[in-house]
Amino acid sequence: MPADERSGLTRRHWLAAGLLTGLLPHAAAAQTLPLRISNGPRRALLTLSLGPGQRYAVTAAASPTRLVVQLPGLAWPTANLPARGGLIADLRFDPATDRLTVLLAETARARLRPGAGAPGELRLEITPIEEDAFRRLVAARQPMLRGTIAEAARTRPLVVIDAGHGGRDPGAIGGNGTLEKRITLATALELKRQLEAGGQVRVAMTRTRDVFVPLSARVELARRQEAALFLSIHADSAPGARGASVYTLSDTATDPLSEALARRENNADAMGGLRLPSVTPDVARILLSLMRAETQAGSARIARLAVSELGEATNLLPNTHRQAAFVVLKSPETPSALVELGFLSSSADEAALRQPPHRARLARALARAVDEYVRG
Ligand SMILES: [Zn+2]
Repeated sequence: MPADERSGLTRRHWLAAGLLTGLLPHAAAAQTLPLRISNGPRRALLTLSLGPGQRYAVTAAASPTRLVVQLPGLAWPTANLPARGGLIADLRFDPATDRLTVLLAETARARLRPGAGAPGELRLEITPIEEDAFRRLVAARQPMLRGTIAEAARTRPLVVIDAGHGGRDPGAIGGNGTLEKRITLATALELKRQLEAGGQVRVAMTRTRDVFVPLSARVELARRQEAALFLSIHADSAPGARGASVYTLSDTATDPLSEALARRENNADAMGGLRLPSVTPDVARILLSLMRAETQAGSARIARLAVSELGEATNLLPNTHRQAAFVVLKSPETPSALVELGFLSSSADEAALRQPPHRARLARALARAVDEYVRG
């Protein structure tokens, strides 16, 4: 007689029991379970063994305060697993809705845990956030995390890093004579080094030396190589502005500062002695209308990740994620963002950006954002 029948247990029960054991530290069978948890008061780690191709989306919900992990088509049994003493108060999986509900002891967010993990795993790091921030996540009704578990043999995605300006176009010039084109190149090269050390992505640069590259050529490089992401690095000048900020494409700017930045950036070709319009207004409008929803969503996501990571590394300009009509962001198929590392017009930002350790910190923050983006 098969063991399952003798004991009266079905495979479902075994799995549910396994899930339950997974909540206990040092459980003997933990290696073979589909879920592992480490539940601390300031940080919880949740590791789900899902298999390649499994889609997931994590949203925040209120009353009760919880995170909902949507796992379409996942063949897990019903389970209700009370946890104790940490951020996670209770875990439930409902196969009727394909939902794993993570009840929270306090308001928290989930992000992908850095590092590769085992193939087929979704590794979520849950950390507390302010109630206000959580309320905004709930109101957004958009997943804070969404993606597909990678296929093992997937080639690493290509990220194009664009060091702003170069050659005859110095970009902004700080009060102490710092040239934007040098700051952008040094930071872009450091970002390349860090991304390659992380091993998650391949990297291409629009320039690796002090040369002039037209804006359209920068965009074309990313399109031709089917880049997964285009990141343009700048450190411009804007009266009174200070701190890092991130820009995505919109045909109308969200504020005068963004509009002025885009106007000046879009003139870079003229500064290099070129008179070619990089894109006519009509073409720009058409490109914009063709821009696929997923490109826009991708741009918004890398901007959100970059803002969040930069916020842990440096001061931020208020309303950190802004939008304007930057030519360099106009590829309809490449999710793109432009990062202002700071403003050379601010003497404090200029002094900081001259320091290699500060630039390395910024590059590390951007590398974390990119790695999180491609894992998502
Ligand atoms: Zn610039």
